[in-house]
Amino acid sequence: MDNQQAKQFLSNKLKKLNYRLEEVKIDVRKPHSSDSSEMAQERENDEVIDAIGRKTREEISQVRRALARIEDGTYGLCQQCGQTILDDRLDALPEATLCLSCVQLA
Ligand SMILES: [Zn+2]
Repeated sequence: MDNQQAKQFLSNKLKKLNYRLEEVKIDVRKPHSSDSSEMAQERENDEVIDAIGRKTREEISQVRRALARIEDGTYGLCQQCGQTILDDRLDALPEATLCLSCVQLA
């Protein structure tokens, strides 16, 4: 896919991830709805946010980085070695920042 398609795809993905993150936050708050909002806030910023929340945040920052790389023209280049990342790999994982050989070395 070209940069325009990648941008489209990544923007959509970012929306979905943000939506999922909101759902996770709501789920975290649900069982404690009787607590003060302050405590809920504390929990929210704490380790209480479950694995899905952490994973989603990671994915969001990955997608944001990929979008930034489309903007600055470095999208599709490996961040490690500077080689072009294969189209097959970008089709499968548009937010990829490393080429396959660097991933295998990592
Ligand atoms: Zn590489």
